Amino acid sequence: MIEYQNLILQNSQFKSLCNQPLNCNSFLFESADEIFLNNFSYCFAKYIFCNNLQNKPCNLCIQCQKVGLLTHSDLKIYPKNNKNILVDDVKDLIENINLTPIESDYKVFIFNNFSSANQQSQNKLLKILEEPPKNSFIILNVTNINKVLPTISSRCKKIRLIPLSREELKTFVNLDTKSEIEKETIFDIAQGSLTKVLNYANNSDFSDTFSSCIKCLTEMRDSKQLIKYSAMISNSKQTFEMALEIFESIFRDVLMLRLNKQNLVKNNNIYDKLVMIAQKLDCDAADLIIKKIYSIKKQLEFNCNYILLIDNLLLYILEVKFLCNKK
Ligand SMILES: [Zn+2]
Repeated sequence: MIEYQNLILQNSQFKSLCNQPLNCNSFLFESADEIFLNNFSYCFAKYIFCNNLQNKPCNLCIQCQKVGLLTHSDLKIYPKNNKNILVDDVKDLIENINLTPIESDYKVFIFNNFSSANQQSQNKLLKILEEPPKNSFIILNVTNINKVLPTISSRCKKIRLIPLSREELKTFVNLDTKSEIEKETIFDIAQGSLTKVLNYANNSDFSDTFSSCIKCLTEMRDSKQLIKYSAMISNSKQTFEMALEIFESIFRDVLMLRLNKQNLVKNNNIYDKLVMIAQKLDCDAADLIIKKIYSIKKQLEFNCNYILLIDNLLLYILEVKFLCNKK
C-alpha cells in the first residue's frame, strides 16, 4: 500500500507536477528521503492511471484504488529483490515494455533505489530511454544523483524533491505516543525527512542518544573522559548513525548562533545548551566539525569500524575546541 498518500497528494511539488501536461515518458525524482521519494512516485503513477478527467488523481476510481494498494497489473516496481537494482530488473522491463497494457491504457515502471544500479544496468536502460513506447512511463527514484550516468539523467524530466516542511510532517505523521519535547526534537533533527522522522520515532534509543550527545558536547573536557562518552553512543552502528545526525544538527545551529542568525536555529528546545556549546567554538571551528562529520559519514558507508570512528570524532571535537580557545 502507498504510505502517507495524503501527505503526498497535498504536497505542493506533487500538485504542480500533476498540473502539467504529461508530455514526457521518463522521469527522475531525486531525494535523500527514501520513503517520501518512493511514495511520491507511487502517487504519480496513480495520477498517470487515473480515469477521472478533471481531477487527477481522484483517489476514487478503480485505477487509483489498485495503484493505492500497489496491485495494478500495469504497474511494475523494481528492484525485485527489494534491495539493489540488478541487470535482471532492466531485462524484465525490456521484456514487458512493449506488451499491451492489461487493465488500463498505460504501463508504468518504477525503479526504487536507482542509485544502486551498476553501469551495465544503466547502459542497458539507456537504450530504452532513448525511444520509450508512447504509452509507457519510466520513473527513476534516485537518492544519490552522482551515481547516475549523465546520459541517463539528461533523458529524463528531473525533479529534486524539496524537504518536507515541519507543518506537513506534523499534520500527517502521528507521533502521539511521544512526549511533546520528544516530538519536537525528532522533527528538529529530521530536518524535513519523513524517513528520518519514522526511523527516530521507531528507535527506542533516540531520546537517550540525544541526551548523550548533548552531554558529550557540554561536559566532556579532555581525552581521559573519551571512553566514558564514546561508550554512551556506541551501542550499535545504528545508534552512532543517529548520533551523527544529532551532532550535525547541533553544530549547524552553533554555526547559526555564531553568525548571529538566531532565527535559523532549529533545536530551540535546547537553546541554552546550544549557547553553552557556541561559547567555546567560533564559526571556523563549527564548520570544521561539520566537515569532519561528513567525512565520517562517508567512511561509515565504506563499512569502517564505527567504534574507531566515534573515538576519532570525539577526539577531533576536543582538539578543535582546544585550538579555538587558544586563539
Ligand atoms: Zn482516479
